[in-house]
Amino acid sequence: MKGPASLNRLTIIGVGLIGGSLARALRKWGSVGEIVGSGRSSSHLQRALELGVVDRYELDPAEAVKGADLVVVAVPVAATYTVLQSIAPHINKKVVVTDVGSVKGSVVSDAESALGDRFGRFVPGHPIAGVEHSGVEAAFSTLFVDRKVILTPVEGTDGDALEVVEGLWETAQARVMIMGVTEHDRILAATSHLPHLLAYLLVEHLDSQEEGETLFDLAAGGFRDFTRIASSDPTMWRDVSLTNREALAEWMESYRKRLEQVIDDVRAGRGEQLQALFTKAKRARDRYFPPDEGLE
Ligand code: NAP
Repeated sequence: MKGPASLNRLTIIGVGLIGGSLARALRKWGSVGEIVGSGRSSSHLQRALELGVVDRYELDPAEAVKGADLVVVAVPVAATYTVLQSIAPHINKKVVVTDVGSVKGSVVSDAESALGDRFGRFVPGHPIAGVEHSGVEAAFSTLFVDRKVILTPVEGTDGDALEVVEGLWETAQARVMIMGVTEHDRILAATSHLPHLLAYLLVEHLDSQEEGETLFDLAAGGFRDFTRIASSDPTMWRDVSLTNREALAEWMESYRKRLEQVIDDVRAGRGEQLQALFTKAKRARDRYFPPDEGLE
């Protein structure tokens, strides 16, 4: 394991679900001298302090990164540029900076313009782990255990910075994968961004009906399972949808085309086609997520 064993000070900007869970995991399995938090609201940071997630906090990110060996940015993706720009003059050339954003293309270009000659120290990252709750209260140390974390280094990324971030996630018991930025954004648009959008849209659509209350009153477990992720943070998902809009819109288009065919099949009562669709989908789901593995 590469491990962040020699980390004296870790700064986490955005001590919410992901930032807070990483802090908790590193406390449990790593050896970090001090964890400093930063973010928007002092009451949330105070709560992080009370919960023992951070050792102290600074509202000003420039203050928070002073003396840090490693800085983790765990804010909604659209806030990345402002945060990186505010810390850039205050980090020395050895400091490694990483992020956890769900979209990598926009983060990489934000980091390039905000960090300038320190861009080589920036390692873009994305843990494929989460729950529908947000904020530090929802953070827990085992969130990343056996989960994948995708790192998307680019041509200018320093090899030793990459190793530090690999070690960080391995300490949190995650499995690190390296992938290209464009590939990451295309794949995650299909498997994460599209399903979130569909879940939000279904809930909003039914809730907008005059008989909305009756509909929800009679909704059972299947509806709950399908729409669980519509309880996720709207700001995060607005940012994801905007910053990965091309890849997301492409998947939405191809899904719409398939949906239109299925609407035709349903209207025309084509049982054979529907049977084939459900059978194929069930086989695929059971293969990728064996039933005894449980749901996410
Ligand atoms: P979260 O629980 O809402 O935490 C976000 C944190 O960022 C909060 O502490 C918030 O502070 C802070 N923040 C928001 N805007 C800020 C700004 N402009 N400047 C400084 N701090 C700011 O969200 P999360 O779920 O941890 O998500 C954080 C990042 O992880 C996002 O980029 C998301 O794409 C990525 N991610 C999320 C998941 C998931 O399932 N949730 C999974 C993988 C990756 P306040 O509380 O004071 O507003």
